[in-house]
Amino acid sequence: MTATIQHWIGGAATAGASTRTSPVWNPATGQQQADLLLAEASDVDAAVQAASTAFESWSQSSFSARTKVLFAFRELMNRRAGELAQAITDEHGKVLSDAAGEVQRGIEVIEFACGIPQLLKGEYSDQVSTDVDSYTFRQPLGVCAGITPFNFPAMVPMWMFPVAIACGNTFVLKPSERDPSTSLLMAEMWADAGLPDGVFNVVQGDKVAVDALLDHPDVAAVSFVGSTPIAKYVHERATANGKRVQALGGAKNHAIVLPDADMDFAAQHLAAAAFGSAGERCMAISAAVTVGSAAEQLMQHVEREARAVKVGPGRDPSSQMGPIVTRESRDRIVGLIDAGEQQGADVLVDGRGLVVSGHEDGFFVGPTVIDRVTTDMDCYTNEIFGPVLSVLRADTVEGAIDLINANPYGNGTAVFTNSGGAARAFVRGVKVGMVGVNVPVPVPMAYHSFGGWKDSLFGEHHVHGPDGIRFYTRGKAVTVRWPHSDTPSGASLDFPSSQ
Ligand code: NAD
Repeated sequence: MTATIQHWIGGAATAGASTRTSPVWNPATGQQQADLLLAEASDVDAAVQAASTAFESWSQSSFSARTKVLFAFRELMNRRAGELAQAITDEHGKVLSDAAGEVQRGIEVIEFACGIPQLLKGEYSDQVSTDVDSYTFRQPLGVCAGITPFNFPAMVPMWMFPVAIACGNTFVLKPSERDPSTSLLMAEMWADAGLPDGVFNVVQGDKVAVDALLDHPDVAAVSFVGSTPIAKYVHERATANGKRVQALGGAKNHAIVLPDADMDFAAQHLAAAAFGSAGERCMAISAAVTVGSAAEQLMQHVEREARAVKVGPGRDPSSQMGPIVTRESRDRIVGLIDAGEQQGADVLVDGRGLVVSGHEDGFFVGPTVIDRVTTDMDCYTNEIFGPVLSVLRADTVEGAIDLINANPYGNGTAVFTNSGGAARAFVRGVKVGMVGVNVPVPVPMAYHSFGGWKDSLFGEHHVHGPDGIRFYTRGKAVTVRWPHSDTPSGASLDFPSSQ
């Protein structure tokens, strides 16, 4: 019998009023493994109500009460990391070691949030006027919603909720309908860690659930991560409804390779960044831009690295790259490789038609390198989100930077070089939010903030780190006087000024 995946509302799993379902696949076998219940607006309302009620006491809880729960949650996450990784692999397809890596990066955000007493320290100014002191501190917002993509079912939600909850908010997560199980495992662990019922809730669902969250009057803030068109839509609709919004969108990440780079090193890292997680990472390198003579030296190394990647089911420890998340995504990726070929690019390594023995129905595409891509081709203008590295050529570093800056996305980018001066010019000149120097996937650690520029982010705040704290709280400034009985009142109809 196919399993049914439910919501988590008010501290317990529930089917709510949901009757619609959507299939959850195992991408390695191509078989359906579960039915996911899709929330109706009334289910979202029940989750928001549970979170609103829980906010009344959670927002008043002491720092020590909150950190006790956060530390316990972190311990449980560490203990059950293997189980989480397996759930990710079975629904997403990525290999187990990669799934374990995303769990680890999520746990690092919990560790950051464990420092909340330090992170939320306010500021105090003594004697701003005679016998008057002033201080500022930050308070939670209320019910915060998180709407997350399929490609990091553990890490991306954890970019959000540990920080939101540590700040005293309550949370409703709407995970991707393609790999929903991780969210329920995390809900169970929160409960086991002692988080009061209703502080963390999960509604499974599609656009119906998302729209209900965006329109709900009791949702104070929305964090979204996903594709650019939906990020833009979420940002517009939720801000029109008066909510605070951060909406992270899609990407087209370029790495430029200068002629002075170590070509073997650059090729190994380009292949890892392009084909890791089958290219289904918002920070995957999908375009390599060679500068001047770098192309001739680089391409043979890149071809060798791409052909060496071992593709297979994610549960097989010898696999380095797993399948694509769904059949539709696989077909879309193949279609964009076809388009590149038809539009005149050179498919140097071709992953179309790859069949993995014993997994003939799995959604596999092999590592693909498309050389001599130009900026007008469909394989460049679309975010492929698959194991495809497009190679473009520029004559100069300035030309490579101009090419990147002309792209509508601005999530991540990298430069491979041995020249400090060239790297510095690149770092300063490129209009992208996260930049690597000989580091192709420059994902900031939990104590810095993660976010792109241009069409890769709508809203002011990046996620986790200092921006996460600012996003999930609002500042309050307090001015205090304790008058002495023997001092003049100093009251005046003039605008207050310090004396
Ligand atoms: P997606 O935009 O299809 O879905 C993201 C979320 O939005 C899901 O929860 C989904 O249920 C919901 N959604 C989908 N269509 C909707 C609609 N019409 N109305 C309302 N809600 C809708 O993204 P995805 O395919 O799950 O994830 C891949 C995308 O996410 C890629 O574009 C990738 O670059 C991006 N991504 C970006 C970052 C980042 O940090 N910038 C991180 C991870 C993924």
